[in-house]
Amino acid sequence: MAFRHVAIIGLGLQGGSIGLAVQEALPDMRVTGHDISAETRLRAAERGLVQQVFETAEEAVSGADLVIFCVPPGAMGAVAAPLREAIAPDALVSDVGSSKQLIARELGAALPDHLVIPAHPVAGTENSGPDAGFAALFRNRWCIVTPPEQTDLLKLSALVEFWEALGANVERMSPEHHDLVLAVTSHLPHLIAYTIVGTASDLEDVTQSEVIKYSAGGFRDFTRIAASDPTMWRDVFLTNREAVLTMLQRFTEDLTALQRAIRVGDGDQLFDHFARTRDIRRSIIQEGQDDSRPDFGRSDHGKGK
Ligand code: NAP
Repeated sequence: MAFRHVAIIGLGLQGGSIGLAVQEALPDMRVTGHDISAETRLRAAERGLVQQVFETAEEAVSGADLVIFCVPPGAMGAVAAPLREAIAPDALVSDVGSSKQLIARELGAALPDHLVIPAHPVAGTENSGPDAGFAALFRNRWCIVTPPEQTDLLKLSALVEFWEALGANVERMSPEHHDLVLAVTSHLPHLIAYTIVGTASDLEDVTQSEVIKYSAGGFRDFTRIAASDPTMWRDVFLTNREAVLTMLQRFTEDLTALQRAIRVGDGDQLFDHFARTRDIRRSIIQEGQDDSRPDFGRSDHGKGK
């Protein structure tokens, strides 16, 4: 492993999971961390999310050859900028943000003297904070790296090796393509879940207790996604605005087509559509990205999306 010391800024679900996974998979590596909240720092130290929790980010990054920002997407630039002097000049800077174009620009502007190779582990749960992290989060999940076109290939392969050591499969993509793909696979589904859960809670003719009582009819699965962290998801939509709006337009057109099929009684169209979507679910299970059991195998894993 090319890196000897990783510093993690932000000790919530992602930062905590990286810290635990490094200690398990790369025991020779030093792991330091910092979080803005004193309460989170205390809990992170209690859980041993990293080997040493520091009160300041400057202390946490001192001597690190890999610095990973694990804060909400909208905070990346502001958190990184004051660390320009504190991060070693030859250290690699990365992040785990859910959108890539804007974050890459902001980290680049905040740390103009450093090499920045953004990354996004496509692994998460609806839980956040220092109690949410677990070492197995990245196992058999994809991690997308979005290096700038001209990059240091040795540093890039070191970052790939780092994520592979934590159990992830790594794929390289342009930040533009990443944002489009994630808009449809992650951001739009979250927007739909937030919408439908909000709609149900605003209904006047159906009571709240009925919504909760009969939630196993499908609603329940949306509520899990809609319980995701509000700060992070506000930032995701604001930092990936264009791609989300493009996908939302496509989605609205497809929804209108299904609406028409229901109105005119076109059962064949509905059946064909639902049969096609069922095949997609089967492919996800075959590729090991989910579990076919009714609880998605969550009772076994304890956690995991
Ligand atoms: P999280 O559990 O809320 O953790 C974020 C942590 O960053 C919190 O502990 C927060 O502190 C801390 N923080 C906020 N501002 C900070 C600052 N200025 N300096 C230091 N720490 C700061 O969220 P998460 O799920 O780990 O998300 C972190 C990043 O991972 C986001 O960019 C997100 O897009 C990305 N991501 C998330 C998922 C997912 O499913 N959740 C998946 C892939 C990638 P307090 O809240 O304690 O104040």
